[in-house]
Amino acid sequence: MKQLIYLDNAATTKTRPEVVEAMLPYFTEYYGNPSSVYEFSGISKKAVQESREIIANSLGAKANEIYFTAGGSESDNWALIATAEAYAEKGKHIITSKIEHHAVLHTCEYLEKRGFDITYLNVDENGSIKLDELKKAIRPDTILISVMFANNEIGTIEPIKEIGEIAKEHKILFHTDAVQAFGHVPINVDEYHIDMLSASGHKINGPKGIGFLYIRTGVKSRSFIHGGGQERKRRAGTENVTGIVGFGKAVELAVAGMEERTRKETELREYLMERVRKEVPYTRINGSRKSRLSNNVNFAFQFIEGESLLIMLDMKGICGSSGSACTSGSLDPSHVLLAIGLPHEIAHGSLRLTLDEENTREEMDYVVEAIKEIVAKLRSMSPLYEDYIKHQGN
Ligand SMILES: *Cc1c(COP(=O)(O)O)cnc(C)c1O
Repeated sequence: MKQLIYLDNAATTKTRPEVVEAMLPYFTEYYGNPSSVYEFSGISKKAVQESREIIANSLGAKANEIYFTAGGSESDNWALIATAEAYAEKGKHIITSKIEHHAVLHTCEYLEKRGFDITYLNVDENGSIKLDELKKAIRPDTILISVMFANNEIGTIEPIKEIGEIAKEHKILFHTDAVQAFGHVPINVDEYHIDMLSASGHKINGPKGIGFLYIRTGVKSRSFIHGGGQERKRRAGTENVTGIVGFGKAVELAVAGMEERTRKETELREYLMERVRKEVPYTRINGSRKSRLSNNVNFAFQFIEGESLLIMLDMKGICGSSGSACTSGSLDPSHVLLAIGLPHEIAHGSLRLTLDEENTREEMDYVVEAIKEIVAKLRSMSPLYEDYIKHQGN
């Protein structure tokens, strides 16, 4: 294959070799079903429990508050739907934000059709929810606040601690989709007053198809997948033992390397961002400059179309994204970029690059040169740009 510069780590990440190595014996040697009674299956059961403990410890939670799922989407669906059902007698109002992942937004739409009332909070130009708007949205029948920890498109980290405090003060449950933040930034569920938290393996160099939902002890929740008595009768289905083992290993590595990774990624990210900002005219950087995931850059290039840019970057071996993986392929501009106030035509020219600590400065140089060349070429074909330049000359 030609050279590959992978800058789409918000879509998915490479599974670390150590993770794969940890998983392998559970395919071919210790393949017992954790629910069986014989000693052999006890090995799988123990491995599942060990991963649960690693994950719980990383959040300041208890092991029996971690429920394994098939990924972030299932965890989000479960958190919202089961809470809505379990607390419907208390009220049918849920507060979320306009910039959530579709796993939350589409679940909210599903609940709306079933009689729940959803408030979608606005965000400011950086993509942060406004706390006074949140306070004003709270009603006597509000049962749940669900706001993501960090946004998958623009990298903005939300004021989670403040949201948690507001939720606690009003005795409302607080769920956060932490799929982008878990393993990247320190999280403590008690300090942040989080009642439920979703995370996923494949966003932190673990395997795909494994995630968990943290549910604080005392939160009424119903099972979402019905069947056997796995996961303390709350999530049926034979445990994805290999996935769980890999997820545990990925969390162990992510926690141990967090500081170093954040430092490396931030340095590379700032370098890339500053070079593009200085060398490509009519460029905007989307998302917060201060409260931001270390690996996320999101540009908006005026007068061009993001999809063409992506295709031309791909021809140079560069993997990026416009909007998120789930919306690419659709012609609608990203709901996140519209929510931060970008006009349609600028939102269309967006490019998200999400780094990994293994990326290098040489790669960033190559990417900057590629962006400069492609953006200039696309603009030279753009009537909008031509028009703009003509009027500027007048
Ligand atoms: C990727 C992602 C999800 C979905 O997780 P899957 O494990 O792919 O189902 C949910 N929320 C956010 C913020 C994400 O980035």
